[in-house]
Amino acid sequence: MIQIAIDGPGGAGKSTIAKAVAAKLGIVYVDTGALYRTVGYYVRSKDQDPKDAAAVGALLPEISIEVKYVEGVQRVYLNGEDLGDRIRTPEMSMYASAVSAIPAVRAFLLETQKEIARKNSVIMDGRDIGTVILPDADVKIFLTASPECRARRRYDELIAKGQTVSFEDVLAEMNQRDTQDSTREIAPAQAAPDAVILDNTGMNLEESVDAVIDLVRQKTDFLK
Ligand code: C5P
Repeated sequence: MIQIAIDGPGGAGKSTIAKAVAAKLGIVYVDTGALYRTVGYYVRSKDQDPKDAAAVGALLPEISIEVKYVEGVQRVYLNGEDLGDRIRTPEMSMYASAVSAIPAVRAFLLETQKEIARKNSVIMDGRDIGTVILPDADVKIFLTASPECRARRRYDELIAKGQTVSFEDVLAEMNQRDTQDSTREIAPAQAAPDAVILDNTGMNLEESVDAVIDLVRQKTDFLK
């Protein structure tokens, strides 16, 4: 069994890189942001303020989240329904970021995440994986890149999905979300003291994946 934690701000390429590494190593890729997005989606569907801890907390007992891996691909079910790309909009990014600052939401999602890592060899991406969810992970990486580079990647991703967005809006939204995520009181998006900081500004996907695999080789026997 192996546990690889990848934390860092949005647009650093965590999910794309982690997916590729998971395929190479034959382990499960866990996207924890999808869980916060799913809670955000439910809060939005009930027309509640995602920053209102009491209102959001009152909704949690109505939410059942199930995570399944179908041929290596993660599916998240909200009360039995797979939301697919509906959680991937810029609006849901902001909802996810807002609800994720509420301690009750983090507590609500904690066990789901830990359980997946108990049952599978994983590469898990998020904001607090190396610090809170998997403090004993075999490899901890804090992946980052310049804000412009990250916004460009996120912009290209959204355009490829057919969404209508401007680069300036994506950059502004990303900066706002980064500040919110890294300065919040609970589980701020910060590198664990024992994480390796990997800045992949100017690196392509293959180079980033190779850098992660090198770290796995250095720090574990998994590839021996
Ligand atoms: O990674 P992704 O952009 O999908 O995450 C959406 C939001 O969920 C982040 O902006 C962050 O606020 C929150 N999140 C978190 N902890 C995680 C994963 C995501 O707080 N482990």
